[in-house]
Amino acid sequence: MAPTSPTIFSRIIAREIPADIVFENDRIVAFRDIAPQAPVHLLVVPRTEAYANVVELAAADSGLLAEIVEVANALAAEHCGGQFRLIFNTGEDAGQTVFHVHAHVLGGKLAEGSLG
Ligand code: IMP
Repeated sequence: MAPTSPTIFSRIIAREIPADIVFENDRIVAFRDIAPQAPVHLLVVPRTEAYANVVELAAADSGLLAEIVEVANALAAEHCGGQFRLIFNTGEDAGQTVFHVHAHVLGGKLAEGSLG
């Protein structure tokens, strides 16, 4: 699928689409996944949609990637006792459907059929 702009995540960040936002600052927004694969399933997303995936983000702005990991860790501490899976699907064949880089934060017992 070709990347589109604005992405659905940009539309959530712009408050054009409702979402259960659990964190935001000037560079990052986090909200609950609409189709959770675990008791806690959050998406941590940079406000910019300049990077389609984590490889592009890491190459261009490793500091922002580190901030995403910090936010994921803080949210996991708050929502699921501090232990979590951090997943960046990268590419359509790997299950990526939204080409606006985002980290899945999964906590608690995973649903049947999900990773793990
Ligand atoms: P990907 O498959 O790694 O690209 O992850 C995209 C994620 O976005 C999926 O887990 C979807 O369930 C989630 N998602 C899609 N639309 C929405 C929405 O409107 N709100 C919250 N999560 C969404």
